[in-house]
Formats: sequence, structure tokens, C-alpha cells
Amino acid sequence: MEHAAERFDCVVVGGGPAGATAAEDLARAGLSVALLDKAGRIKPCGGAIPPRLIRDFDIPDELIVARITSAHIVSPKARVADMPVERGYVGMVDREHFDEFLRVRAAKAGAQRHAGTYLRIERDGGGHPVVVYEPKGRDGEEARIPARMVIGADGANSLVARQEVTGERPKCVFAYHEIIATPADGRVDGARCDVVYDGRLSPDFYSWIFPHGPTISVGTGSAHKGFSLRGAVGALRERTGLADAETIRREGAPIPLKPLKRWDNGRDVVLAGDAAGVVAPASGEGIYYAMLGGRLAAEAVREALATGDARALARARKRFLQEHGKVFWILGIMQAFWYRNDWTRERFVKMCRDKDVQRLTWEAYMNKKLVRRDPLAHVKIFFKDLAHLMGIARA
Ligand SMILES: Cc1cc2nc3c(=O)[nH]c(=O)nc-3n(C[C@H](O)[C@H](O)[C@H](O)COP(=O)(O)OP(=O)(O)OC[C@H]3O[C@@H](n4cnc5c(N)ncnc54)[C@H](O)[C@@H]3O)c2cc1C
Repeated sequence: MEHAAERFDCVVVGGGPAGATAAEDLARAGLSVALLDKAGRIKPCGGAIPPRLIRDFDIPDELIVARITSAHIVSPKARVADMPVERGYVGMVDREHFDEFLRVRAAKAGAQRHAGTYLRIERDGGGHPVVVYEPKGRDGEEARIPARMVIGADGANSLVARQEVTGERPKCVFAYHEIIATPADGRVDGARCDVVYDGRLSPDFYSWIFPHGPTISVGTGSAHKGFSLRGAVGALRERTGLADAETIRREGAPIPLKPLKRWDNGRDVVLAGDAAGVVAPASGEGIYYAMLGGRLAAEAVREALATGDARALARARKRFLQEHGKVFWILGIMQAFWYRNDWTRERFVKMCRDKDVQRLTWEAYMNKKLVRRDPLAHVKIFFKDLAHLMGIARA
């Protein structure tokens, strides 16, 4: 369906967690919003989400397909650190249903959905942006949506970012996974996720097995060109007795690992989510940060429209980094140090057996806050870290 040349307060490009959240927030605030998405594609994703996301973004129970209550961390020498979640659980969602739920919720709030592929932004006589896209199923045709502001939430390969904001291409890990049917014989614990640190399966990231009820995501990631991600997932399936399970889908996508230096063009475009390079280093966690990024982009757009001052757009990045910049920095250092080789990975997994490390890791993941109330635990971890680093603690 083509819409007449109504000017929207904001056009959101991309209907993943970042774009759908931004569109919903803007519509709820009474602004006119168009949400443009390619439609029909399932985002390749492990689908693990923290309780903070479930709370902050009102995710209904029926979207949680599995509740994870422990992590099984495996070292290159097959030594294990079991990390039970002391309170609560990690949720697993299927992106096919999760993303569509968010888009439908945005539409119910008042956003107008458009299905098609974003092509570019043109400017009209008044200098306002006009989003040009190819409507779904109409090859070679172009449709236009006039806007006052644009949010670019079109993922890690964002065209909006490249055309409008920055020439900078984010550094990425490429992640690949296979969705397999859960074996009926009960050999997989549906409440446990496995995280494997082993240079043969990923030379610079990690591999995973995430149960999703009737299906399982088995995946790995690496920034090394030429490393066979498919070979590694095959090896992981072989090693864990999952080689014979039915393969439902094979898919992959880049994961950006560093927030871009600019998220806006100083005028009328602001980025959110993977388009802004916002995924936590070391863990590759992006859904929560994408939704928060969408929320902050929507807030910045509202402020820019209300005041007529486009400098408000820069607040999205500023507010995000105020809240999470420190954690991203720490995780970046962790990844650079602990994921270097199998010797450091072995020590890293050993460190994960420590109860203080487990408690602080879970609390930071679940609630997205650095734990401040237990300074002694931080001091203990610092010295334990040092011991592992220097090889004083035996792996
Ligand atoms: C294999 C893999 C496993 C992962 N596992 C996890 C995990 O377990 N937990 C976690 O938190 N994160 C995980 N991530 C990261 C997470 O998937 C992303 O960070 C998150 O999806 C980012 O959301 P987004 O809305 O910014 O972008 P996306 O989810 O990529 O959404 C972008 C949207 O834009 C649309 N789009 C793109 N280009 C255009 C265009 N030209 N025109 C119109 N629409 C367009 C797409 O159709 C899509 O709907 C994983 C990533 C990968 C690749």
C-alpha cells in the first residue's frame, strides 16, 4: 500500500528491536511515525535476553520460549565452570516472533507500517528528508515518505549510517549459527546454556549452545576472515552429540563490536542499535542495547522536534555511553585479553568457577548495572584476576 505525501514527524528505517522500540515510543508520545522494514526476514540471533529487558520493555511471558537457570562454561581442555543463576533466569526468544510482536505493538500504538527496502534519503525544497524505498514485491519501483526526522535502525550493515552519518565501518565479528530440532531423548538440558571457549571453535570469540524449547541455536563467531564458522559449528555439534539432530536453518550475520563515534548527522538523522555499532564486546549481546538505543533515539528526536534544536540528537549517544560506556570498555579489554589464545581461555574459564566472579557477572548481566554495593568482592576479584593473569593460580 502506498501512502500519500503526508509528512511524518519521524520515519524509522528498520523494524528490529531498535527500530520497533523507537517507533512505539514516538507513537505513544503522540508523534506521527512511519516504520519501514524489509519484512519477511528472520534475524539470525541466539535470542538470549536479560530480565532487565523483560521488565523495562514489558515482554509477555508467552514470548519466552526457554528459561535458562545455569551456564555451562567449557575451556579448551574441556574443563567446566558451572554458573548457576542464583535469582531469576535468562530468557530465550525466537526472533521471528519477538520482532514481529514489537512491530505489531508499535503499530497498535499508532505507527504506520511500510514494507520495503530503504534506498536513500533525498531532501525536498524545504530541506526536509524524504525517505525513498522500494516497496516489497514491486521490483524497481520507488516510493517516498516525507519526514521531519529519520531514525536509522537498519542493522549492522546500515545504509542510513553509511550514507548520512559516517564513512566509518564498524569492526565486526561474523556470527553463524544452526537452528536444530531439540532431540526428543532428553539429552539436552533445556534450562542450561553452554558457552565454549576454544580456539579450534573460535579463535577470537566464543561458541554457544542455546536451547529454545523445541529448537536449539548452535553457533560461533569470529572476526578472522577465512576461519570456517560452519566447520566449527559442525565440530561443536559432533563434540556435543548433536550432529544427528535435524538442521532447520543455517544463517549468519555480522555483530558490530564498537559504538560508532557519531550517531547523528547534526541535522535530522540519528542511528540506533546495531546501526550505531552498539553490541556489548566479549558477549555479543545486542538486543537489550538495541532497544535502549531505540528508546534514547526516540527521546532525542522528540527533544529536537520540540525545541527545533538539532543538537539534541547527539544526546542519544551521550546518554547511552553515560550509562553503559564503562561496561563496554571493560568488556572490550576482557575480550582483547582473555580471548587471545587457549592459555588465556583456560585461565578465564577457571576464573569463572569463582563464586564472587559468578555473582558479579550474573548481577551485571541480569540488571545491566555494575555492582557497587560489594566493594570487597571487587577487590578480591582484582587479586584473583591478577593471579590468573600471572599464571600463579593453576589452571
Ligand atoms: C548469530 C547471532 C547471534 C546473536 N545472539 C544474540 C543473543 O543471544 N542475545 C543478544 O542480545 N544479541 C544477540 N545477537 C545480536 C543481536 O541480534 C543484535 O544486536 C540485535 O538484533 C540488534 O537489533 P537492531 O534492531 O539494531 O538490528 P536488527 O535486529 O538487525 O534489525 C534491523 C532491521 O532493519 C531491517 N533492515 C535492514 N536493512 C534494511 C533496508 N535497507 N530497508 C528496510 N529495512 C531494513 C531488517 O529487516 C531488520 O528488521 C546476535 C547476533 C547474531 C548475528
